[in-house]
Amino acid sequence: MSTIAWIGLGHMGTPMSANLVAAGHTVRGFDIAPACIEAAAARGVTTVGSVAEALEGAEACFTSLPMPAHVRSVYDGPDGIWAHAAPGTVLMDTSTVDVETSRWCHDESAARGFAFVDTPVSGGTAGAEAHSLTFMLGGAADDVERAKEYVGGMAGTVIPCGAATAGIAAKLVNNLMLFVSTLGVAEGSQLAEQLGLDAHVFYAVANASSGQSWPQRTWYPVPGVVDTAAANHNFDATFSVALSRKDCALAVQAGESTGVHLPAASLALSQFEQLIAEGFGEKDCTLITKLASPDGTLRGFDPSAG
Ligand code: NAD
Repeated sequence: MSTIAWIGLGHMGTPMSANLVAAGHTVRGFDIAPACIEAAAARGVTTVGSVAEALEGAEACFTSLPMPAHVRSVYDGPDGIWAHAAPGTVLMDTSTVDVETSRWCHDESAARGFAFVDTPVSGGTAGAEAHSLTFMLGGAADDVERAKEYVGGMAGTVIPCGAATAGIAAKLVNNLMLFVSTLGVAEGSQLAEQLGLDAHVFYAVANASSGQSWPQRTWYPVPGVVDTAAANHNFDATFSVALSRKDCALAVQAGESTGVHLPAASLALSQFEQLIAEGFGEKDCTLITKLASPDGTLRGFDPSAG
């Protein structure tokens, strides 16, 4: 069994690193948020106070960080991963970032003698808890083989996508599709309600019909319909509006740089921006449903409850 460093113990990082612990690895975890450190420690992660300490004795290192800028700052600089990882450590980033940031991680890691593999994930916090995530790997073939050894304990499916940045490119496209679907589920759930349909009945119809999708099955935004929905918990984030806005913006940017027209992704992006302007950036992305509601209220959501 291995010693693995883990930087970023948030919604995804804590359950993912806990699964590595359950698989028998020693995981040395670091986060800047004390509450995240506590939550990970309660699940068997050996929590430490810095990136450097996390890397002590580690043969592999994962990052699970919010934005591209966080990834860049955690890799670079005197307190960063490159400064403290032992030669030969395999570095894997599970964050959703732009292709350019991932390319930079590959190139700068290679220049310093490290193997880097882009290892973004799909499946949400439910998939992270259930170690059923889909991992999309990008990198040199030998490095991807090494990465497979470490992601196995967290994954339901591991798909090598190709050379450096192929994993993150696949992830950006996947999430474009996710958020366009999420917008459809938001609008559909509201229309079903206004047409007088029972939410459980309509959920069963969609599940067995062509309206079925991953966000419909997993995030149906009406309380009490599906266990994994944020609607059951006042829309506390499983995947925040802020991170969803980031992912939509990354897809729209990729569309602009390739000349692909993305009106549906642009609409989802503008709706997430509206929620952020209303002060809901840290709530769940399925709060987008509120924008389809006739009077702006949403069953299961009390804005005054924080
Ligand atoms: P999160 O905000 O809950 O977790 C990120 C963690 O990184 C936070 O705990 C934060 O304190 C920590 N962090 C920030 N800067 C740091 C630093 N300098 N050093 C150490 N820790 C630092 O986000 P999340 O929902 O867990 O998502 C993490 C990444 O995975 C994002 O890129 C996201 O887009 C992607 N992702 C999320 C989901 C999801 O369903 N939540 C699914 C797939 C992929």
